[in-house]
Amino acid sequence: MSAFLDLRSWLKHLDQQDRLDILKPGRQLEFEVAGIANRWDGRKATVFPQLGNRDGVIVSGLLSQRHWMAEALGTTESELLSRFQGALAKPLPWKEVANPPCQQVVYDEPDLTSMLPIPTHNEHDNGAYITAGLVITRNPKTGRQNVAIHRLQIQGPRQLGALLLPRHTLAYQQMAESEGHDLDVAIVIGSSPAALLSSQAIAPFDQDELEIAGALTGAPLEVAKCLGSELRVPATSEIIIEGRFLANTRELEGPFGEFPQYYAERAKRHVIEVDRVTTRERPLYHTIVGGSREHLLLGGIPREATILSTLQYSFPGVVDVHLPQAGSCRYHLYVKLKKRLEGEAKNVIMAALAAHYDVKHVFVVDEDVDIHSREEVEWALATRFQADRDLVVVHNTLGSKLDPSTDNGISSKLGFDLTVPKDVPEMKYLRIRVPGQTQIDLDAVAAPDADLKDFL
Ligand code: MN
Repeated sequence: MSAFLDLRSWLKHLDQQDRLDILKPGRQLEFEVAGIANRWDGRKATVFPQLGNRDGVIVSGLLSQRHWMAEALGTTESELLSRFQGALAKPLPWKEVANPPCQQVVYDEPDLTSMLPIPTHNEHDNGAYITAGLVITRNPKTGRQNVAIHRLQIQGPRQLGALLLPRHTLAYQQMAESEGHDLDVAIVIGSSPAALLSSQAIAPFDQDELEIAGALTGAPLEVAKCLGSELRVPATSEIIIEGRFLANTRELEGPFGEFPQYYAERAKRHVIEVDRVTTRERPLYHTIVGGSREHLLLGGIPREATILSTLQYSFPGVVDVHLPQAGSCRYHLYVKLKKRLEGEAKNVIMAALAAHYDVKHVFVVDEDVDIHSREEVEWALATRFQADRDLVVVHNTLGSKLDPSTDNGISSKLGFDLTVPKDVPEMKYLRIRVPGQTQIDLDAVAAPDADLKDFL
C-alpha cells in the first residue's frame, strides 16, 4: 500500500471503504455542519455540498482514527510511530513545480465573510473559524519555513485573528516585528494527509515540516511558490490564503471551543491581513470541529512519535509512548519502559515533562502493561505505586494555556513511577495467569447440544 498524496485521492479511498457520509445540499454553516460531523466523529468522514452561495464543498473527519492515519501514509497502525520517527530523522527536501492546481483560480479582492464555506462550530465560538489551515511562515533571517495549525477567526472580509502559542510561528513573527516588519503567511486548506500530520510534529526550530511530509510518503512533496511571497505551499492543496501577520497589531479574538473541551477565552491576539486567495477549481474546504476526535488525534499521533524519539535519545529502554484521548491527546502521557536501573523511570518522567510543555501527567509502566489500555495503566497505578516514593511533583512550570486549571499556563506537573522496584522477590509482583489459557480452542471443547437438566 502506498501513501495518498493529496486530499482527493484520500477522500476517494474513504468512499470506497464506506467511511464517507455525503449530506444533502443546504446544511447550515452555523452549528449544523459541526453537529453532523460530530455525530459521525470517528466512524465516517463527512462531505457537505452546496452551502448557500459559498464556493466550495466542506469535508470533515478525514483522519479520525489511528488506523486511518496509518493507511493514509501507506503503513499499518503498529508501524505508524516508527514511520513518523523515520521521517523526523530524515526529512526530504521538497520539489518545486510550476502551474500548480492550488492556483487555478485567483481572487485578488477576496471576501472571507462570504466566499468560502467556513462554519461556526461550538456554541460560544465567536463566529466562523478556519480550523484546518496549515499556517506557513518563513524565518526572516534564515529563510527556513515553519508549518503549524493555528485557529483563525474571520474578523472581516480580509482580516483573520490568530492564536499563536509560544512556538515557532510566534518566534518568526517576533523576529519580523522587532524590525517593524509584517510577516508573510500562507494558510493552506485541504492538502495531503501527510502534510496535515507533519504540521503537528514537534520538530526542531527551523525544520520545515513540509520536508517531514515528503519523508512520510517517501517522495519529495511537490510545492509551489505563492504569488505574493517567497513562501512555498503544497501544490495540490485546495485553497491558499496569502497574507501577512501585521506588526504591532492585536485585536480581540475568541472565545473558541478548543481540544480540552473548554472555551479558550477572549483576548487580544495576532492579526493577519489577507492579500489574496487562490484555489483549485471547485475547491474542497476542510474543517476540523474543535474538540473532535480528528482534532485530538491529529495532535496526538505526531506528538507521540516526536516524544518517543526524544526519550529514546537518552533512554533506549523506552519502548513505546501513548497520549490517551482521556488526556486530550496532550496532557497525559503513558510511557512503556524496559527499566534497566533503579531510578531510571524518574529520569524518564523528567525528560517527558521537558519534551513538550503540554505534557502534564506522566505515567511510566513496565513492559507487561498495555499502554493503549487505560484500564491496564490504572491497574498499575493501583498496585505498583506508592505516593511517598513514586511520585514526582514540580510546581510553577510552563504548561498549556488551554488547560483552564492552570494559572494562565503556569502549571504543576506530576510523574507517576508505576514500575516494579528492581530488588523485590520475584513472586511479589508476579502477575497471575492460568497456564495454557490463551491456547484453548473454546469451540473444540464446547458441547453445544448438551442439556443443563442432565446435570441437575
Ligand atoms: Mn516547527
